[in-house]
Amino acid sequence: MDCIFCKIINNEIPSYTIYEDEIVKVFLDVNPNCNGHTLIIPKKHYLDLDDIDQATLNHIMKIAKKIKKVLEEKLNCDGITLIQNNGCIQEVKHYHLHLKPHYNNSQKLENVQDVYKKIKGASLN
Ligand code: 5GP
Ligand code: ZN
Repeated sequence: MDCIFCKIINNEIPSYTIYEDEIVKVFLDVNPNCNGHTLIIPKKHYLDLDDIDQATLNHIMKIAKKIKKVLEEKLNCDGITLIQNNGCIQEVKHYHLHLKPHYNNSQKLENVQDVYKKIKGASLN
């Protein structure tokens, strides 16, 4: 299957990975519109919200809570939006949850590598 996110999981495409376990991989979006734009994806290929199973979704949400804390602590963001696109609005056809930080003060968009340096190695409590 020609899926870009499956290739990221298999390390065929590099990614700025923040966290991974047997079920999920968490990495920075390559084309962010805010500093710290993060994606959580299941390691197994699911298309969308209809396709994914409940246990995997629960795990993704558990990890999302922890990643939210990491982004708040490491990037000092003031708010975070969670988004998950389906159907015509979904560009990559492998389920993924976006975490998008917001900042009270306008921020210069930093390059992804510099943002990654601030987050990498963070422990998920
Ligand atoms: P969607 O519109 O499907 O919800 O969002 C797909 C997201 O995946 C976009 O924000 C896009 O920037 C991101 N993306 C697409 N290709 C890659 C890639 O190769 N690496 C990373 N890290 N993100 C990607
Ligand atoms: Zn896939």
